Amino acid sequence: MSLADRGRLAAGAARARVPAMARPDLLTVTDRGIFCPAGGFHIDPWRPVARALVTHGHADHARPGMGAYLAAEGAAPVIRHRLGVPVQTLRFGEPVTIGGVTVRFHPAGNVPGSAQDQGERAGGVWVVSGDYKTEADRLSEPFEPVRCHTFVTECTFGLPVFRWRPEAEAMAAVDAWWAENRAEGRVSVLGAYALGKAQRLLAGIDAGAGPILTHGAVETVNAVLRAQGLRLPPTIRVTPGLDVRAYPGALVLATPSALGSAWMRRFGRASTAFASGWMALRGIRRRRAADRGFVISDHADWEGLNAAVRATGAARVIATHGYTASFRRWLEEQGYEAGAIETEFAGESLEAPEPETEAETEAETEAETEAEAEAAETGTAGAGAAETGAAE
Ligand SMILES: [Zn+2]
Repeated sequence: MSLADRGRLAAGAARARVPAMARPDLLTVTDRGIFCPAGGFHIDPWRPVARALVTHGHADHARPGMGAYLAAEGAAPVIRHRLGVPVQTLRFGEPVTIGGVTVRFHPAGNVPGSAQDQGERAGGVWVVSGDYKTEADRLSEPFEPVRCHTFVTECTFGLPVFRWRPEAEAMAAVDAWWAENRAEGRVSVLGAYALGKAQRLLAGIDAGAGPILTHGAVETVNAVLRAQGLRLPPTIRVTPGLDVRAYPGALVLATPSALGSAWMRRFGRASTAFASGWMALRGIRRRRAADRGFVISDHADWEGLNAAVRATGAARVIATHGYTASFRRWLEEQGYEAGAIETEFAGESLEAPEPETEAETEAETEAETEAEAEAAETGTAGAGAAETGAAE
């Protein structure tokens, strides 16, 4: 694109936008995370602070040690369960005033109860997206665009290579794979993050097609979500005493790390698959050594991120959690006043396909396209949180 084109685009875009507020103090970043000085609270802080607004229960957003927690009603049970802390709650859209800042939560569509946090003061509005997905699924409250002056957006999949198929198509692909395995008397083991992804699959696939077994980590989250009123199809927890031969052709929802472990032996000649946005990358698919890779993410894809940014009408957009440097550059090219926040847990915030050694990552990415290589590298950096369900 020529500079003149860029200039025209920028000018056109700027007219449609809500001008940035001349209030840099409304939101800032400390060594603990994103901070609202006027309200005296942090949002998804990574180190202990007095008061934390927490967008959702994934481990890179909900950290232990905060003096007080505030989260959306639907996200609180998981946060309480995981951290063992009291959590104050707000309904979506319900305002609360904290130190002169009016705070509201709006659905982010990442996991049940996941919120975009909005703050308003003296006519200036900011929104911190947390993790979000713009396409609706059958589990989480659908993403809601919120008009604001400053939008802090995640960009886990902020490269044009990441484009998701529609929800129904993605779920149909899983159904077809399971049906094929059932017909051959094989168990289907599907690796998916224990918080959010596993339950979204349960809600989205044809669950009546056969028995569904679950890894303990998945079933624990199922129990928390069922207790808060979410309806999930019946599942059977895999315990040492369970005779899995009694469930031929079953679907097994496992954590990604269980797939490569001794836990798998009980299922014999099973077919294996992963459900993750990273499955869009050939290198990662190969390295995961599963029979199938389903490109299913609880984050927005490239189009989703751009649509969300546009829908806010914000003139100032800050990239965080993901490809922050390149997404910031892209935003600048589109005429936004752009910035970036590197979080302490940037690597872990990604929907990482499980811990791997750096050597493996490098060797495997050699033959990839530049974008894939970059994505693979970033996606596996500091992936240690995958075990805890941190990464989508
Ligand atoms: Zn998340």
